[in-house]
Amino acid sequence: MSTALLWFRNDLRLTDNLALQAALTQCDNILPVYVFDEQWLVQDKYGFARTGSFRLQFLLESLQDLKSHLKELGSDLLIRRGRPEQIIPALMEEFECSQVFCSKEYTDEELKVERALAKKIKLSSFHNSTLIHPDDVVFDIERMPEVFTAFRKKVERYSKVRDAIPSPTSIASVDFEGDQVPSLDDFGMELISNDERGVLPFKGGAMEAWGRLDHYFWDTECLSTYKETRNGMIGADYSSKFSPWLANGCISARSIYQEVEKYEAEVEKNKSTYWLKFELLWRDFFRYTAMRYGNRIFHAAGIKDQPRQWKYQPKVVRKWIEGETGDALVDANMRELKLTGFMSNRGRQNVASYLVHRLKQDWRVGAAWFESMLIDYDVCNNYGNWIYAAGVGNDPRDRVFNTQRQAHMYDKDGAYRNLWLSKQVKM
Ligand SMILES: Cc1cc2nc3c(=O)[nH]c(=O)nc-3n(C[C@H](O)[C@H](O)[C@H](O)COP(=O)(O)OP(=O)(O)OC[C@H]3O[C@@H](n4cnc5c(N)ncnc54)[C@H](O)[C@@H]3O)c2cc1C
Repeated sequence: MSTALLWFRNDLRLTDNLALQAALTQCDNILPVYVFDEQWLVQDKYGFARTGSFRLQFLLESLQDLKSHLKELGSDLLIRRGRPEQIIPALMEEFECSQVFCSKEYTDEELKVERALAKKIKLSSFHNSTLIHPDDVVFDIERMPEVFTAFRKKVERYSKVRDAIPSPTSIASVDFEGDQVPSLDDFGMELISNDERGVLPFKGGAMEAWGRLDHYFWDTECLSTYKETRNGMIGADYSSKFSPWLANGCISARSIYQEVEKYEAEVEKNKSTYWLKFELLWRDFFRYTAMRYGNRIFHAAGIKDQPRQWKYQPKVVRKWIEGETGDALVDANMRELKLTGFMSNRGRQNVASYLVHRLKQDWRVGAAWFESMLIDYDVCNNYGNWIYAAGVGNDPRDRVFNTQRQAHMYDKDGAYRNLWLSKQVKM
């Protein structure tokens, strides 16, 4: 009998999970494991919790859902807290596992853990998070197109999205007792608020992800108008809100893409349906950027060659964090983030530009705050977008947002600013 240790990372799903599929086909039974990596549970150098309570809560819910699905198929989930590179080899010994199966990650800390593990045990990892499988692109990653449009045109022309794999119907599993999913309290944290002004009462897990997709695509057909509404800031349906589920891997980009194609065949195909696929390619673009540039996405100069000096003035940054800069659009967005763990894409672009270009602060402190707060924090998307906003990424232009103009364009009647600022905004 051969036993595979299936190490869940940011791939908390049973549908379209290549690591799970490989483990089930190559071994007789599996041991599903999740490890809360200690390095995510500390404070960063700015004093922010690396994993804030909104994100942790979403992760815990996602694990609960994963555990329930595993149980339905005859298995369960082992949960540990510590360093995966120590815990996993010990579990392998205890349960006599022959090898580890997991999804690939593309950034430094995750890769270090993977390398440390690979020195001790047999580890097979799979590209499970991109829309386009890296084996299906026509360029070497080291020579990928630097600008998004060129990247998109290449993959749209030459690469095909692979079909999503269905969930297994049963899972042969080692005999073990699964663990309870811990609570926020077990991590010494509590949920800050459940502000009813938030866009959506987000809940983690694959079931919720598919429920959201059903709502956005099939029940309301909001997908048909996505391109017109996507720059909104208020409410559940101006955009898909798939990001927290994608970040935790509760649903795959391939599954979403496949559903868009089904919608195009059964309901309608238009600019909006295309635009959702387009946005999923942005997500891929930042993953490929991380694969190509490695640690440079975290550096002050980003992926540019010229050295860059940035200011870090804690008092100035604190005002930005608290939504007290005096710029109503920025302040409203920063308050939404602090009270809900979410912010629209329009908001993110504005507050990032404001921090870097107006307040002249180091983009990395902004990225760290987002890392702590965002319910959909995704290392490649976050750092990729931040270097882009700071002018040290893949953007050929140095883009500075005029927040007054942006407010006029996207919040003409002041509804968004009034929602989040106690004072009424004069128009
Ligand atoms: C400074 C900054 C930081 C960001 N940090 C993150 C982050 O940590 N995690 C994250 O998932 N997104 C991040 N984004 C991208 C984007 O803002 C969110 O993906 C989007 O707002 C999520 O809402 P949605 O799912 O409704 O998006 P939709 O508009 O419905 O888009 C569908 C999906 O496409 C992808 N997508 C859309 N826009 C982008 C983009 N600009 N870059 C990459 N992928 C995109 C996301 O996976 C998203 O869920 C950041 C953007 C900026 C400007």
